[in-house]
Amino acid sequence: MTSIAGVEVPLEHFVGGGFRTGGEGRIPVVDPATGETMAEVPKAGRDELDAAVGAATQAFPLWARTSPGERGAALLALADAVEAHAETLGLLESRNVGKPVSAVPEELAFAVDNLRFFAGGARLLEGRAAGEYLSGYTSMLRRDPVGVVGAITPWNYPLMMAVWKLGPALAAGCTVVLKPSELTPFTTLKLAEMAGDIFPPGVINVVVGDGETGAALVEHPGIDMVSLTGSVPTGKRIAEAASRTLKRVHLELGGKAPVVVLDDADLDAVVAGIRLAGFVNAGQDCTAAARVVAGPRVHDDVVSALAEAAGSLIVGDPRDASTELGPLVSERQRERVAGFVDRALAGGATAAVGGTISARPGWFYEPSVIVGAEQSAEIVQQEVFGPVVTVQRAADEGEAIAMANGVEYGLAASVWTTDVGTAMRAAAELRFGTVWVNDHIPLVSEMPHGGFKQSGYGKDLSAYAIEAYTEPKHVMVKW
Ligand code: NAD
Repeated sequence: MTSIAGVEVPLEHFVGGGFRTGGEGRIPVVDPATGETMAEVPKAGRDELDAAVGAATQAFPLWARTSPGERGAALLALADAVEAHAETLGLLESRNVGKPVSAVPEELAFAVDNLRFFAGGARLLEGRAAGEYLSGYTSMLRRDPVGVVGAITPWNYPLMMAVWKLGPALAAGCTVVLKPSELTPFTTLKLAEMAGDIFPPGVINVVVGDGETGAALVEHPGIDMVSLTGSVPTGKRIAEAASRTLKRVHLELGGKAPVVVLDDADLDAVVAGIRLAGFVNAGQDCTAAARVVAGPRVHDDVVSALAEAAGSLIVGDPRDASTELGPLVSERQRERVAGFVDRALAGGATAAVGGTISARPGWFYEPSVIVGAEQSAEIVQQEVFGPVVTVQRAADEGEAIAMANGVEYGLAASVWTTDVGTAMRAAAELRFGTVWVNDHIPLVSEMPHGGFKQSGYGKDLSAYAIEAYTEPKHVMVKW
């Protein structure tokens, strides 16, 4: 156990119901707010992966045969445990990711709600009616769990992403080997510790490691399905590697969410919405309101009001209760963000506010609003994943929708208008997995979250997520 943010964290792999150390080297975990190393975690090697996959394989037949009610009860118990430890988990998440402490209670509450939804969802799998589709035979549909799932999570919402992977897979009757991001393993290990008191050994396993570890997990012959939340390049590498053994693949990838602001929009609501959704989690959100496309009459007002709103964000120590914007997760991520902005400015765009690294220790970047970038510009086309919002001018509604759709991503979008017909038309035309009207960012457990186009395939949250971890099976009985 190591004490981090006053919380005792087991910095080991969780395999077969207990913690074990070992592996191939160690990985430092850095505090994003100071740049100082907080701890080192072991990097799983072949032995640890074999042990984790072996434990999950052994646990699978028993877990798959539990009743949905039993699986639901275990998920409810995990939800209760997370809720009971929400404060310490929140402190840990804040310290590891650099999130403001004020932001974590909502995340924790949502993760608890997600678990409770999946607990109920375990008992509500739906399918076609059994019946006589051929005379003299009764056909019925089963939904069998896929098997052992290799789940791989990113660093931006570590605990919530672990819940989004574990919840539906466990509800479906699968067992899981989960690899958190090497940057943010702490809360996932605490979650494993809690799960150890609730789930049979081997149902949940956590291996700590980096991309190489993730790649070895994907290649492992004992894994039946891989579920990733991560970047598009990692998703492509995983899909390619998984194709060699035809493993099932579920990919929640990056985004570049447009915010379509039409000329009749309520500007105060728009600016308040983007101040939150563009900069929450320092913009390190796959659905972040990153790309404003504004109608000709409102463009200039949006730029000036948004620059003022972004400039008013309280940037500072994530531990300070008043902080609204913390650091980026790593030095590498900050360099990436700075690179995008520097190249945009060199290419003729301007910063209405920000556009620079913050002069303070840790990996801070100033909240930025970038104006005048072309549709083809890298900063419009690529996921920046930082506190950076671009604003573009569109000639009319048609061009605004075309610009919104004119990227390779398709995770989330919003449209802002006071005309219900326009809203419905835009919702139909925007090619994204989630479309908000007059808001941007909220999600609910009951509705699917996932991408179109390069943002991946397969849905998180909702009954669709549980279905993704099952295989429909036809049983046909001759009379
Ligand atoms: P990443 O792709 O670098 O890493 C994600 C995970 O994959 C990490 O655990 C990493 O160790 C692992 N990994 C890296 N290379 C691998 C490989 N070759 N094989 C197997 N595993 C590998 O992403 P990140 O930087 O941790 O997270 C940010 C990305 O995640 C962004 O693109 C963001 O949009 C995306 N994201 C998407 C959603 C969503 O719901 N669609 C949610 C959160 C984050």
